[in-house]
Amino acid sequence: MAVEAEAAGTSGTAPEWPETLDVRALLEQGWRPTPFHEFVIKVHSRCNLSCDYCYMYEMADQGWRSQPRRMARPVVDHVARRIAEHARQNLLPDVDVILHGGEPLLAGLDHLRYTLDAIRTAAEPDVTVRFHMQTNAVLLDSRFLDLFDEFGVILGISLDGDEQAHDRHRRHGDGRGSHHEVLAGLDAVTAPEYRHLFGGLLSTIDLRNDPATTYEALLQSDPPGIDFLLPVGNWDTPPPGRLPDESTPYGDWLIEVFELWYRAPEQRTRVRLFHEIIRLLCGQRSHSEAIGLSPVAVVVVETNGRIEQVDTLKSSYDGAPGTALHVSRDPFNVALMLPEIAARQIRHRALAPQCGACHVRQVCGGGLYPHRYRSGTGFLNPSVYCMDLLRLIAHIRSAVLNDLATL
Ligand code: SF4
Repeated sequence: MAVEAEAAGTSGTAPEWPETLDVRALLEQGWRPTPFHEFVIKVHSRCNLSCDYCYMYEMADQGWRSQPRRMARPVVDHVARRIAEHARQNLLPDVDVILHGGEPLLAGLDHLRYTLDAIRTAAEPDVTVRFHMQTNAVLLDSRFLDLFDEFGVILGISLDGDEQAHDRHRRHGDGRGSHHEVLAGLDAVTAPEYRHLFGGLLSTIDLRNDPATTYEALLQSDPPGIDFLLPVGNWDTPPPGRLPDESTPYGDWLIEVFELWYRAPEQRTRVRLFHEIIRLLCGQRSHSEAIGLSPVAVVVVETNGRIEQVDTLKSSYDGAPGTALHVSRDPFNVALMLPEIAARQIRHRALAPQCGACHVRQVCGGGLYPHRYRSGTGFLNPSVYCMDLLRLIAHIRSAVLNDLATL
């Protein structure tokens, strides 16, 4: 059960969980926060595509409208100092920094160099920074890749499948698809001199796309990893095709891909969701916030320097990811004490009663946090994908158990 604050409910509207979470009571009970080890830095707040499912621009939170386009250099300096400070205060030998947007390549070559250099210089020599970038790859070329090679920036590229699947959503503002440009970017990063910078593909599921065709299209670039994302949605705004019944369209879609991945004579890539579920079934910890009960140790800095929670929360309601903290005056340690950050780190205590009684709760963990939102009760609900997750986990469990029995 979640720890509730006695003083909650003093404002006009009833507070939603986790506003009522009492962090002091948690500390008295022995809970301790997990320091952030992943820093998502919004170097640019706009995008050169207009994907219709984007949680940044198309959903409840419209905070991007008031954000500066690019993170100013004094803000970058504060970010660099705060990351190094947080690592040192918490004795972290290394951290991960993800350059994000909008589209981060829009920040430009010089600005990205400044940002990478500032963060690395502030952290050296005792803190190692691993750099990553999530990009749509439309602007990716050898100039950027030379820079990323210098700083060891590993790239995640968004690709939804073949041309039809990808261009269903990932279009320019004038309606043109972006598939050809993304493939050109993929060609650039998979050239022998840059392939070590290719981290993998991020692919958002659309039920209209055939799972086998989609998986085969993604395998064409031999990605080291594929991260399938369930479309953003919650109980107030259900994802496409997710009806309020016991059907499992997303579970079935993913099972079809799982069978291709798991039964392949030679494993050609790592599908993160399946890999994590198998780890959890074997009693290990999850490394993904999409599944499992591991504390989430990710924090976001917006282009204006405001410290925020993970930005998929933008799908819940206007202002959902926001905090009142700013890198110019607040250390990241202060954010660790916020109820909304603590809620992501208290494992089973953040589960709704239905999840607490569920036989797969250790593996599922209630699913991705933004998928649990319902106005009135906040995030103290099962995932809107509950039925799909139950089906997928049961299927993977039975596949693994069968193999173990054969062994
Ligand atoms: S399967 Fe459903 S009830 Fe079980 S933990 Fe996941 S979201 Fe909760």
